[in-house]
Amino acid sequence: MQETDKEIFEKDAKDYLPVFNRYKIVLDHGEGAYLWDNNGKKYLDFLGGIAVNVLGHDYGPLVTAISEQAKKLIHCSNLYYTQPQADAAAKLVALSGLDKAFFGNSGAEANEGAIKIARKYAHQIDPEKSQIITAWDSFHGRTIATLTATGQPKYHEGFGPLPDGFDYVHYNDIEELESMMSEKTAAVMLETIQGEGGVYTPEGDYLKKVRALCDKYHALLIFDEIQAGIGRSGKFFAYEKYGVKPDIVTLAKGLAGGVPIGAFIVTDAVAKAFHAGDHGTTFGGNPLACAAANVVLDTVPKPEFLAHVEAVGSYFKQQLEHLKAKHPALITDVRGTGLILGAELASAEHGRDIVNDCLAEGAIINCTAGKVLRFIPPLIITKEQVDTVILTLDDVLAKYDK
Ligand SMILES: *Cc1c(COP(=O)(O)O)cnc(C)c1O
Repeated sequence: MQETDKEIFEKDAKDYLPVFNRYKIVLDHGEGAYLWDNNGKKYLDFLGGIAVNVLGHDYGPLVTAISEQAKKLIHCSNLYYTQPQADAAAKLVALSGLDKAFFGNSGAEANEGAIKIARKYAHQIDPEKSQIITAWDSFHGRTIATLTATGQPKYHEGFGPLPDGFDYVHYNDIEELESMMSEKTAAVMLETIQGEGGVYTPEGDYLKKVRALCDKYHALLIFDEIQAGIGRSGKFFAYEKYGVKPDIVTLAKGLAGGVPIGAFIVTDAVAKAFHAGDHGTTFGGNPLACAAANVVLDTVPKPEFLAHVEAVGSYFKQQLEHLKAKHPALITDVRGTGLILGAELASAEHGRDIVNDCLAEGAIINCTAGKVLRFIPPLIITKEQVDTVILTLDDVLAKYDK
């Protein structure tokens, strides 16, 4: 029996760990860039499950691949080989220019694996080479090691003692990074484009200079592309956009179009640090998740697909700039590239209200870091859909523009 929203809210309040500050709708199904709630109300989805549903909802080839794989084999353990896993790894290696891939189930797990292999690699050079430098306002996950890597004190509070060896620098500040590095630095880990922290892109040659410092101190460069990867920047990997190759890249979110997955990909030199038994996973890389990933990996890297992201993204950014010009007291900055865009509000006062008002008007958007409206929609959205969301936002902002 279909329950009412009220019944579901009450059940959730009673039985679900209250860690999510949820919006009061119950979602039921989707198609393309649209979602429908339990009452049949339609929404334009400009969040895409937080950068996950890259191919939109109910994408035929993805649904078919998942159903066909489910009929054959959902899971069989990494004690055996499967073709979907071998195929997905081969595709990631070819696309990344790196050499070995490993699959887990989430972004946090991908970063956890990247941290482990970087530590092991550095340990062979010098057991004291263990420092990992990350950025303030970064986001790397919720496990104990990845929340420590996350440069936001609010996520650390109450979870100590946290693991040693993590230091933080301001993103885009190369001098500060240089002052922090030495031969004891095992790795520098950065989001190629910061997402959750407020949509910040690398300025000028920042990432190239980071690469040079890593080379100077024999430290590994880890790019967390869990949010910015999988075509979102207009390139398959965001690092292609900035002409810098990491030693390790991590992926998750969009990689399997909505099926839980994570991956880290490393160079051969780094891969040699791990031997059988050094790492593992029960679910990671199972044939169901990899069959889904194979559809994404056959679709998103196509030049015409990436060109669409680039075109719609720059159009969207232009429209956000117009909105900023129209509401200068409310929007103070527009940032991002491709389809990872942010509009910073003058204050955090109305962030959540604006998201809620858009929701009431049938547009799902997000506010991160308190006051940055973040747009990370399915990569298949059209200019017309951008126009719709911009119109909605314009109306909603007018309400707060005094
Ligand atoms: C979402 C995210 C993570 C964590 O991924 P989970 O799947 O939630 O564990 C890590 N890094 C970045 C950049 C992310 O956006």
